[in-house]
Amino acid sequence: MPGQGVVLSISGRTRLAAVIGDPAEHSLSPVIHNAAFDALGLDWLFVALPVRAGNGAAAVDAMRTLDIRGLSVTMPHKADVLSSVDRITDAAQALGAANCIAWSDAGLVAHNTDGAGLVASLREDSGVDVAGLACVVLGAGGAARAVVRALARSGASDVGIVNRTTSRADAAARLAPGIARVCEVGAVADAALIVNATSVGMGAGVDDPDALVVPPDLFGSGQHVVDLVYRPVRTALLAAAERSGAHAIDGVGMLVHQAAIAFGHWTGEAPPVTAMTAAARAAVPVD
Ligand code: NAP
Repeated sequence: MPGQGVVLSISGRTRLAAVIGDPAEHSLSPVIHNAAFDALGLDWLFVALPVRAGNGAAAVDAMRTLDIRGLSVTMPHKADVLSSVDRITDAAQALGAANCIAWSDAGLVAHNTDGAGLVASLREDSGVDVAGLACVVLGAGGAARAVVRALARSGASDVGIVNRTTSRADAAARLAPGIARVCEVGAVADAALIVNATSVGMGAGVDDPDALVVPPDLFGSGQHVVDLVYRPVRTALLAAAERSGAHAIDGVGMLVHQAAIAFGHWTGEAPPVTAMTAAARAAVPVD
């Protein structure tokens, strides 16, 4: 914004990173990453670039010509960008989707940091180690697939998948053979960790009964309930989990940690997670 330090400090040496999406203007990535650059005193700038559907691969090619140092990738480009990079990590390959493009000695690398971001946020922000936990993931879209794979690879004993569309749940279960399986909603009652990775609850009020993707009486004390929805931060699902005595964990932690991992890939620096978290929490509506 004019008159603020970030613009005044831009020079010919400023490095550029960006998020591409359609739309891109609602992304919290600029807020989170510019706070991180500021916290470390890095001469970098992060902007949101609206890129039309179908142009994701061209946007990656533009990184080469414009020397863009890092790219966050959001809908609808997460699959398209894979065709323009020099290397694809195992996570991005398995998921068929990338949310981060970074430079390496091998050229441009497509990463998917969503699943690792959730596991890191559980461990570092909430003290929850998923190893040995029976988990249920609600949903089978892009976020759910990343979470299923990451939970299984981090040692979860069992990952049940509950989804409205069974064929998508089947596909998600194939990401972690022997650990992940399709199950009925009743499995929520027996899980130690439940992750809502559906979009149900987004933009809804905390008291809206239609904003609950599962019956709230399935929750109980001793459970960890995570909602990936972070607009609002306090969702109807988290409120219901708290009323049942469960430990409610909002989606800001995953949002920040997936960004923090990307920040590390781009800059080679340890991400300033505290500053990134403060910036993200200041930018999202609580309820
Ligand atoms: P997506 O690929 O479109 O998947 C949406 C999922 O929600 C699907 O499983 C879909 O079921 C389910 N769903 C949608 N409406 C439903 C309804 N009325 N009843 C039951 N299930 C319903 O979206 P996504 O990218 O995975 O994102 C999902 C949510 O996670 C979004 O709210 C997004 O903002 C959030 N997210 C958060 C983070 C974070 O860092 N906190 C990161 C990524 C995503 P069907 O398969 O049956 O259609």
